[in-house]
Amino acid sequence: MPKPILLSVDDDSDVLRAIERDLRSQYGAAYRIIGSDSPTEALDLLKQLKVRNDSVALLLADQRMPRMDGVAFLQEAIGIFPGAKRALLTAYADTNAAISAINHASINYFFLKPWDPPAEHLYPQLDDLLDDWQASYRPTFQGIRVLGTRWSPRSYELRDFLARNHVPYQWIDVELSANDPETKRLLEALGPEAANLPVVLFPDGTKLLEGVPADVAQKVGLRTRAQTSFYDLAIVGGGPAGLAAAVYGASEGLHTVMVEREAPGGQAGMSSRIENYLGFPTGLSGGDLARRAVVQAQRFGVEILSQEAVGARAEGPYRIIKLADGNEISCHALMIATGVQWRRLEAPGIDRLQGAGIYYGGGATEALSCQGEIVYVVGGANSAGQAAMNFAKYAERVIILVRGESLSSTMSQYLIDQIRETPNIQLWTHASVAEVHGDTHLEEISVLCSDTGKTERVPASAMFIFIGALPRTDWLANLVERDERGFLLTGPDLIRDGQRPKGWTLDRDPFLLETNVPGIFAVGDVRHGSIKRVASGVGEGSVAVQFIHQYLSKV
Ligand SMILES: Cc1cc2nc3c(=O)[nH]c(=O)nc-3n(C[C@H](O)[C@H](O)[C@H](O)COP(=O)(O)OP(=O)(O)OC[C@H]3O[C@@H](n4cnc5c(N)ncnc54)[C@H](O)[C@@H]3O)c2cc1C
Repeated sequence: MPKPILLSVDDDSDVLRAIERDLRSQYGAAYRIIGSDSPTEALDLLKQLKVRNDSVALLLADQRMPRMDGVAFLQEAIGIFPGAKRALLTAYADTNAAISAINHASINYFFLKPWDPPAEHLYPQLDDLLDDWQASYRPTFQGIRVLGTRWSPRSYELRDFLARNHVPYQWIDVELSANDPETKRLLEALGPEAANLPVVLFPDGTKLLEGVPADVAQKVGLRTRAQTSFYDLAIVGGGPAGLAAAVYGASEGLHTVMVEREAPGGQAGMSSRIENYLGFPTGLSGGDLARRAVVQAQRFGVEILSQEAVGARAEGPYRIIKLADGNEISCHALMIATGVQWRRLEAPGIDRLQGAGIYYGGGATEALSCQGEIVYVVGGANSAGQAAMNFAKYAERVIILVRGESLSSTMSQYLIDQIRETPNIQLWTHASVAEVHGDTHLEEISVLCSDTGKTERVPASAMFIFIGALPRTDWLANLVERDERGFLLTGPDLIRDGQRPKGWTLDRDPFLLETNVPGIFAVGDVRHGSIKRVASGVGEGSVAVQFIHQYLSKV
């Protein structure tokens, strides 16, 4: 926690040095002592301190300075740090001006120069002022602060990225807190830069304007560059399947890297409560599961890269992945664990308002913002049910829209029971989204009711879409075999009419979780025919490592 600041301003460098020396010897242990010989530079400095979220306890300014006198400086400085104690340094001749400043210009005290001995003429009065300041001092937040607006898709993307990577941050909605004096002061201190939202402020005083996850990843120490260019095992995708493979691979001695473009945890990381994962009788949140798995993987030395894989190729015994930043990683064995991404809902207005009231998936960061609002959840599977239960804790009402006549064929019974017992969740059957409306953010939804043939237009603050998912594997299209929907074929699925896949040169069949390229494996939801569950992803990721050992023994 940085110490609060005592700032003195005097254009006479000898006096400035003397006051700094005396302040440091008495208060240096508890405060940071800063001096400036120019009031305008001191005001700029105060703005920087405001942006860094520093605390200023005392402003001490000489009255007689050219261009800006002490009173004028202190009055401007109050606008930036209104809580700081303010004192003047004056010559005897200026005593009247100083007294008048105390009466009319919110100055707390004045000191006559010279103040020797300080133990008599400086410290007792300053002790008093600082005790007073300490009584109402609340330490400021010392982590990352993100300034943005709730309905901005870019702000949403950034907050979601930070939350899912477990990076603590303070969110400042500049519209909602427009009347908050402290936010106003921060925006004024930022000046024109405050227009470049989202603005990310770091505790070291640096900032990112129009911040994007990749830049923030670098700043917060998420690794974006591989430490070496070669690994025994490279895993693309950090969901449950990829994380399990990483833990098993590294724990069994493989030099392992895992590439994840958003945040470890994958879809599971969006789940507010996984109730069917073995060993957690009361359930656990996907975020918690992901956090534990990441710690476990790191303990075994797995390198986790915050990057997107955009291409892959095989060159002799090497498997090479190309990353979005243009760098490449080579490995002996490559594991694809890229899971699935949400299917898009096709209706007018959806693309325009995505991130501004319309979200695919859980929207972990949005749940809290839905306090007292009407929220729609589209979809009838378990993921939609879990999300509805989570939003119901905050929203006034949650309405689940499903095309069918009930949830029974698509959702687990335990969730159906929970939903039935939650009074602020309502199920709207035979319903599909026809259009969404709103200028800058979602305001209304037109719902087509297939049983009546009518369309109803209803108010809505947020709509979360959970309508199934598809793999995004185009980047692998020229390398590995995929089914018509893009899922990767492995093991027995590659054997047709007793024939091994085209181009296969080894004198064995592909292993159970191996693709048509030896040494490239696919696990979890991205694999054709996989069971879309956390446990099965974890199982496949772990089992595949055994095949990798067998593969590596022959490379
Ligand atoms: C809201 C929700 C609730 C759920 N609840 C449950 C539950 O209660 N119980 C249960 O068993 N299952 C549940 N599931 C399903 C379960 O989460 C999935 O089956 C499981 O996460 C699949 O794991 P995976 O590792 O195969 O893929 P994913 O979890 O999809 O992870 C894939 C990862 O790969 C990354 N990735 C993709 N492409 C690239 C690329 N090119 N470069 C780098 N990284 C990439 C993605 O960002 C993602 O993090 C739920 C799913 C959701 C969405």
